[in-house]
Amino acid sequence: MENLTISEVAKKYNFRFKKGLGQNFLIDDSVLDDVVDGAEVNEEDFVIEIGPGFGTLTRELLKRAKKVCAIELDEKLFPILEEELKDFNNFELIHNDALKVDFNELMGDEKSVKLVANLPYYLTTPIIVNLLTKGYDFKSLTIMIQKEVGVRIDSEPNCKAYGAFSILVQYYCDTKIIRLVPPTAFIPEPKVESIVIRLDRLKEPKVKVKDEALFFSIVRKSFNMRRKTLWNGLKDIGIDKENLLKCFERANIDPVRRGETLSLQEFALLSDEIGSAK
Ligand code: SAM
Repeated sequence: MENLTISEVAKKYNFRFKKGLGQNFLIDDSVLDDVVDGAEVNEEDFVIEIGPGFGTLTRELLKRAKKVCAIELDEKLFPILEEELKDFNNFELIHNDALKVDFNELMGDEKSVKLVANLPYYLTTPIIVNLLTKGYDFKSLTIMIQKEVGVRIDSEPNCKAYGAFSILVQYYCDTKIIRLVPPTAFIPEPKVESIVIRLDRLKEPKVKVKDEALFFSIVRKSFNMRRKTLWNGLKDIGIDKENLLKCFERANIDPVRRGETLSLQEFALLSDEIGSAK
């Protein structure tokens, strides 16, 4: 395939793109390079790719990694991948839905596991939540996603895009935007712009909290109604109003502030105070 275009490969195998599976295949070599460079893939890495498509990104990963294990849902792509990547003996193809995969099983004893993927848009949020919250020991996730979601992940307090999802990802990872990608880099062209972002998994979560479930529940409630104050979002958290007010005081947070102004550290403080008062 190295010398064939995506359209030529599609024609050769009589392949029809499935919109429902988010099949927008990369055709821009500079983006491929930036993804693989951005992921800093080297010969010690065990790379897991979600959605190899025709194997365009897979091929570049195979040239640099110790092994690439790709998970693909569309079985029509299997014969194509097997044929097009037959020269590589460090390639493994797994037929499954990425949301159903036990990544621990896949990783085995591998020490340096990096996930690299041009993700189908519909899968972005559920797969990120799944990969981060299940404690999988990835070194990093380098993913191409819709620009809007990437900006949300990378944003800071007081930015319009900052929300519960930013906090979830930043709790587990350092985030770094690698580059923007225009719709013209794909066939067929998607309607939105994309972004390549790298999430480096932290050894310990960015903030220490006594009760993780409570922390995330407070974060969600604080962003549920963006225009409301923290007090309005949290007044039904399960402690009486007088005690709740004291929690705000001890955490040194004004209850009339809005959720979007709080840092992770402030959410952690508030959550620990509320947890102790419960
Ligand atoms: N990696 C290729 C590229 O960059 O050209 C294709 C990327 S395309 C955006 C997304 C790929 O994910 C497609 O090959 C699609 O069939 C596959 N896919 C969609 N849903 C999936 C799922 N739930 N699990 C695994 N793969 C999936």
